[in-house]
Amino acid sequence: MFKAILLNKKEDGSTDARLIEFDESQLPADGDVTVRVDYSTINFKDGLAITGKSPVVRKWPMIPGIDGAGEVIASSHPDWKAGDAFILNGWGVGETHMGCLAQRAKLKGDWLVPMPAGMTARNAMAIGTAGYTAMLCAMALEEQGVTKDGGEVLVTGASGGVGSVAIAILSAMGFRVVASTGKLNEADYLKALGAADVIDRAELSAPGKPLQKERWSAVVDSVGSHTLANALAQTRYGGAVAACGLAQGMDLPTSVAPFILRSVRLIGVDSVMAPMPRRREAWRRLAQLDAGKLDRITQQITLAQAIEKAPDILAGKVRGRLVVDVNA
Ligand code: NDP
Repeated sequence: MFKAILLNKKEDGSTDARLIEFDESQLPADGDVTVRVDYSTINFKDGLAITGKSPVVRKWPMIPGIDGAGEVIASSHPDWKAGDAFILNGWGVGETHMGCLAQRAKLKGDWLVPMPAGMTARNAMAIGTAGYTAMLCAMALEEQGVTKDGGEVLVTGASGGVGSVAIAILSAMGFRVVASTGKLNEADYLKALGAADVIDRAELSAPGKPLQKERWSAVVDSVGSHTLANALAQTRYGGAVAACGLAQGMDLPTSVAPFILRSVRLIGVDSVMAPMPRRREAWRRLAQLDAGKLDRITQQITLAQAIEKAPDILAGKVRGRLVVDVNA
């Protein structure tokens, strides 16, 4: 038996989330690696799963937790053996396959990334899917030829998980980063992460003109909706926008003007099904992140607190990242 959060669908369609003792024999039979989870996290998607606000969970009952880090206990997969340290992000874990907000999990060896040298399980989860997605966005912009000499880079949803790590990554790459936030009282936090300037997200979140004054050489957007539309409208000629999130909304009320008149490029970024070589490269680079900045981003909570904090992340109340010590 081990401790886990378990989600059940109630008769009225709502989600029941509780901390329980789970029987290891009930873990999915199709997993070929049994792991001890040391740390997990609460991402936006975990918030959706635990509260039932969105149909993230597609098999019931479900242990949530799209991220985990710890050590392999037993494996029939050729690449993994007992004692190996792993990171897991996505692949439907916590949605269709029992997840990592638990002390044990049975996962597929093909999904696991080896822990990069020098990285701890706690730091890996301080980064989590949010931070790994921020790195995928930075890599996408680099591949589009964006350079630090091209001008300012905008990060939206700046005080959130993706935003906080994106600021740390892009500033370390030498970019002048402008952070857009609804929490102007967190300006010192955002500047300590590397933001050169902080703007009020209200400047971006209302309907705007299809083309506006050119400002950004590139954008990392985790907000979507009008914010992404305005960011596109303010992107300079030939600039690139990496879109990965929908904290404001799933809609994109824009026009083709930025694309056909300014050659702006909109790049979609998905972390869940990203191919393994790209994941490994993202994690190799994430291992070089400033540990002090990671500490600044992170709050540590227990498994029981993970249930309480789930609504907060959806309400945009969480600063940075929530790391879950599954043994606390
Ligand atoms: P967080 O909740 O940590 O951060 C989101 C931030 O967005 C908030 O902190 C807030 O920042 C801002 N925000 C919240 N609500 C609104 C709103 N109504 N209007 C404008 N801004 C808002 O979430 P994450 O950073 O973990 O994830 C962000 C988004 O990225 C989510 O939609 C998530 O699903 C998506 N995502 C996608 C991935 C992918 O693979 N494509 C992977 C990971 C995340 P502030 O107060 O500073 O403005």
